[in-house]
Amino acid sequence: MTLEHYILSWLCVIGLCLGSFFNVVILRSLSNESIIFPASKCPKCGNKLYWWHNIPVLSYLMLRGKCYFCKEKISIQYPIIELGTMFLFAISFLKFGISWKTLFVIIWLSGLVIMTATDLKAKLVDCNIAIILAVSGLVYNLIFSDLSGGVNSILGLAAGALILEIIARSGYIFAGTRAMGEADTYVAAALGAMFGIHNILWILLYGLIASMIFIVPVFLYNQYKNNNKVICILAVLFILTVLVYYKLCINYWVIGILIFLGILLSISILKNIRKEENRNYLPYVPALAFGALYFIFFSTNF
Ligand SMILES: [Zn+2]
Repeated sequence: MTLEHYILSWLCVIGLCLGSFFNVVILRSLSNESIIFPASKCPKCGNKLYWWHNIPVLSYLMLRGKCYFCKEKISIQYPIIELGTMFLFAISFLKFGISWKTLFVIIWLSGLVIMTATDLKAKLVDCNIAIILAVSGLVYNLIFSDLSGGVNSILGLAAGALILEIIARSGYIFAGTRAMGEADTYVAAALGAMFGIHNILWILLYGLIASMIFIVPVFLYNQYKNNNKVICILAVLFILTVLVYYKLCINYWVIGILIFLGILLSISILKNIRKEENRNYLPYVPALAFGALYFIFFSTNF
């Protein structure tokens, strides 16, 4: 076994255990309980868990996804976070090898995993984690490209915060409320501090594309469930026209219809957002995390 294999195996084990710890952090940051106290217990029946109920992934399989005592279903979140953390640690090491970069990437991805999970679960994000990421990003840039890196990092932080704040507050114009939560601004600022002013724009763009791919179908499904027929029909027509545009021809008529439908669709979506009673922010941290992930592993600039 080479040194690389040895480290990789240990990183996988550490990833699984830390993933298990992140599950506790996620759960208790939502219920405001201490992370260290009390001992793990079933959220349904309150029985204290045995030590082997805390073994990552394996315990989930051994218990067949049910509480040992009351047979309440255990959330699939647990094994997903554990395996996901392990996977992220492993690919970080495979990509960056034995280096400080690997260590920083692992810290950053850990923070993003926790914030993504709490945002998806309860639209709550612990901004302290974003602040820790921002500081570590500044340290990283100072270490690897001295003072110019530090300036780059601080400018990135400012740009990330500014852009997200502008987008969030533009919501007041269209819908009378912020378009995104304040946590998104913290996270974008942290990403700016990590990757610098030259890259933050790209990361925000990747995040935007990701949010389109993931959020738009969910949004349309909700509209369908709420019987908003106009939006659904317009959306289907819009997607069909896009397909025609890409598959068949670049015809001025098609482009014209595309723009016309796009404007109609946007207006009716904005009207509906205005009407909705309990307006909620979209969970946007997952999209930002995706942008960062894409940048770390697929960009030549990192
Ligand atoms: Zn139970």
